[in-house]
Amino acid sequence: MSLLEMQNCDVFYGKAQALHDVSITVGEGEIVSLIGRNGAGKSTLLKAIMGLNPIASGKRMYDGRDATRVSTEMLGRSGIAFVPEDRRIFATLSVDENLRIATVMGRKGAWNLERVYELFPRLKERMTSRGDTLSGGEQQMLAVGRGLLTNPKLLLMDEPTEGLAPLVVEDLIKAMALINAEGVAILLVEQNLKVPLKLATRQYLIDNGHIRWSGKTEDLLAEREKIEGLISL
Ligand code: ATP
Repeated sequence: MSLLEMQNCDVFYGKAQALHDVSITVGEGEIVSLIGRNGAGKSTLLKAIMGLNPIASGKRMYDGRDATRVSTEMLGRSGIAFVPEDRRIFATLSVDENLRIATVMGRKGAWNLERVYELFPRLKERMTSRGDTLSGGEQQMLAVGRGLLTNPKLLLMDEPTEGLAPLVVEDLIKAMALINAEGVAILLVEQNLKVPLKLATRQYLIDNGHIRWSGKTEDLLAEREKIEGLISL
């Protein structure tokens, strides 16, 4: 059974339709990617999953139940965490304070401050530094750590590697694999195939608010050029 199923979803901004009949699933403990160019509808879909964009028609199934009308707050409490593209770090709070605030939200579970510092030793080194003094990579680690402290079943990650140096991206890939090995499902949004091909077992390609292709990573690799052409990557 899938942990999350978005079924035939339409989403609008005013009269403009941003998502057309979009269906995606994420299984328990799975890593799935959503790939598309700028403006394709990736963030819109993540926000629809999280209840931040209303679903005009279609369904959200979560954990075996119809959750179409469940609020963002309740979705968060039932185990969906969102790591937004702009990371939303509190600039004037220290790393440690940013993390401690996250521990008061969400569910109880195995993730705690100690385990987040184990996963990201760099954050421990910088625990007293203010949010606005962190590098892009450190901010991303902090945003992921904060998500983990809500003990999610599903982590939604909006372009986590954007603008990061290749070595930092490698570290983040390792961290995502470790998080997933602990049983957390990940929906990874990216603008290209580089990181998705390394991490995800299944891929969705989105363009202009439509899912143009979906399938296993091995099937994408077998016909990569043709499939990339479908969304003009
Ligand atoms: P990016 O890589 O830039 O984050 P994206 O794939 O996440 O792109 P979305 O941000 O989901 O794309 O945008 C999809 C479409 O919806 C675009 O045409 C965009 O202009 C439009 N859009 C996004 N947010 C809004 C909004 N708040 N109001 C109106 N239109 C919006």
